[in-house]
Amino acid sequence: MREPVYYSGSARFFDTHAHIYDRKFDAENVTTEDILLRCKASGVTSVLIPADNESTSRTAVEMANRYNGFEGVTLYASCGVHPHEAKTYTEDTEKYLRSCLETREELRIVALGEIGLDYYYDLSERSVQRDVFEKQLILAYEYNVPIILHERDATGDCLDILRRFYKDGRLRSLPGVCHCCSCSKEAASELVKMGFYIGFDGPLTFKNNKKTPEVALNTPWDRIVIETDSPYLTPEPNRGLINEPCHVPYVCKKLAEIKGVTIDEAAQITYDNGRRLYGVN
Ligand SMILES: [Zn+2]
Repeated sequence: MREPVYYSGSARFFDTHAHIYDRKFDAENVTTEDILLRCKASGVTSVLIPADNESTSRTAVEMANRYNGFEGVTLYASCGVHPHEAKTYTEDTEKYLRSCLETREELRIVALGEIGLDYYYDLSERSVQRDVFEKQLILAYEYNVPIILHERDATGDCLDILRRFYKDGRLRSLPGVCHCCSCSKEAASELVKMGFYIGFDGPLTFKNNKKTPEVALNTPWDRIVIETDSPYLTPEPNRGLINEPCHVPYVCKKLAEIKGVTIDEAAQITYDNGRRLYGVN
């Protein structure tokens, strides 16, 4: 059934975006221990668990703390409210996020996210999405943390907001990462100019996707991180299987091909980039 893990060399990988608490894992009888065991087997030594609302922020923090170090895998968390969930954002949510950011070191929180705009699904009203995005950008600047940006079919409005924050000096010099980048290469290079890192995952490996490899080719090496966005977006050749951090070497392999380096070199660079992005050792 499951393909053996792809990578057996000595490089280390950092999956900078994996929702390993997702209910889909329970539904497929995959335990967190299984996930971390397979991480170890495939050289994935660091994983960031991102949140999308208050409840998953709590779960991400809880998991990162409970399982950190299991099978030698270092875990980090983020807290934040995804554009899908923008309609749930209240003053209490903001209080909660503030309390997280105040104690982020002991909670293993290294970023605020996912935050941003999603006009593809439109699960929250667009004006509400923009408002909640701006509120969280203010928090990120105030607490000096990088953001995990989620942007889908909303590049124009997203860049407008970020440009305004950038011009006003309310973005960090390292503002965060454009996760699961799906924008044009022009938009990606504007984000890079503002200091953003760009995150690539399964879609980079999809055969019909010509755009994302071009964005990767065009993005400077020191700004690229790799991710799985588990449990969805499983990379080739494992599409159809539930996605896990152990699949991140496939993304790295594709990136290495695009950039004309070895997978070990690509692993080392993206590993170092992930640590610099999130300010961890
Ligand atoms: Zn995600």
